[in-house]
Amino acid sequence: MNSDERVNKLSGISINGETALYGVIGNPIRHSFSPKMQTLAFQECSINAVYLPFLIQEFQLPQLLNAFAISGVQGFNITLPFKEKIVPYLDLLSDEATMLQSVNTVILTTEGWKGYSTDGDGFVRSLTAADVSIKGKKVLLAGAGGAARAIAVSLALAGVSELAIVNRTQKKADNLAELLRTTVPNLCINTILPADLQMDIVINTTSVGMHDNGCPLPDSVFNHCRQVVDIIYNPPMTPLLKKAAERSVPYMNGIDMLLYQGVEAFEIWTGQKAPVETMRRSLIDSVYSSTAIDHI
Ligand code: NAP
Repeated sequence: MNSDERVNKLSGISINGETALYGVIGNPIRHSFSPKMQTLAFQECSINAVYLPFLIQEFQLPQLLNAFAISGVQGFNITLPFKEKIVPYLDLLSDEATMLQSVNTVILTTEGWKGYSTDGDGFVRSLTAADVSIKGKKVLLAGAGGAARAIAVSLALAGVSELAIVNRTQKKADNLAELLRTTVPNLCINTILPADLQMDIVINTTSVGMHDNGCPLPDSVFNHCRQVVDIIYNPPMTPLLKKAAERSVPYMNGIDMLLYQGVEAFEIWTGQKAPVETMRRSLIDSVYSSTAIDHI
C-alpha cells in the first residue's frame, strides 16, 4: 500500500480528543464481526467514535464497568459467555432484558449502565425487512436455548397468535413456555409438535444444521408453512433451508438477524437511524470471506 492509499483508507476516520469509545466483550472475541461493522457505521454517519474488541476473563467482570467508565466507554456489546453473567453488575435493564435476564447491549445513561437484549427484536426486524408478517400467525420454534428465548419473547410481544416450542430437552421448552405465559397471557403456547402442523412460519434456533448435520424438524412441517427461517447464518444454506428451497417454500437464513441486532445496538447508542446497507455489506464480507465463528 502506498502513502496515498494509506491516507485514502484513513481519510474517513477522525480520531481526536473527543473520539467516543464503544466495544464488545467476550471470550473468545478475536473473530467478532462487530468492530468493523460498527466502526464503518459510525464513519458513514459522521459520528466521531470507534468500536473495539475486548477479551475479558470472568474474574474481571466486577471491575469492568468502573474501568469502562474511567476509560470513557459509552456503550458496548456482550457476547458469549457473558450475556447472563453481566446482568448483576448493571444499574438498569430494559423490559426484554429483565424477562430474559440476559443482555447483549449496554449503554451508559445518566442513571448508570443500562442493559438491553437486541437479539429478539433484531430477529423480528429481519422478518419485517423481508416483508414477512408475523402478527396473528402460528409459529413453530425449534429450540429453547439463549437465542430461542430472546426470539420467543419478541415474537410473543409482536403479536403472533400461536407459538409451539419444541426442544430436545423438554424441560427447557416448558420453562420458556412458562415465562411467556406470565408475560403474554392471551398467547396460545404449547411445547409439543402440533399434530396437524398447520403452522404459518417455521423457525430453527437450534444449532442442528451448522455442520451440515441434518434437519431439526420432520419433513411434514413443510406441508402447510409459508415461511421457513433458520437463524444459522454459516453455512448460508442449511439442510432445513435446502429442503424448503426444494419445495419452493420461501426461506431465509440468520444473516439478517445478526445484522439487525447490531442495527438495534447502534440506534440505542446513537439515537440515530443506522446505515443498514453499509452494515450489511460489512457483515457479508466478514462472514462469508472468513472462517469466523463468533456471533457479534
Ligand atoms: P444454546 O443456548 O446453546 O442453545 C442451543 C439449542 O440447540 C438448544 O435448544 C439445544 O437443545 C439445541 N441443540 C443443540 N444440539 C442439538 C442436537 N444435536 N439435537 C437437537 N437439538 C440440539 O445456543 P444459542 O445461542 O441459542 O444458539 C443456537 C444457534 O443459533 C447456533 O447455531 C447459533 O449460531 C445461532 N445464533 C444465530 C444468531 C444470529 O444472529 N443469526 C444469534 C444467536 C445464535 P437442548 O436444550 O436440548 O440442549
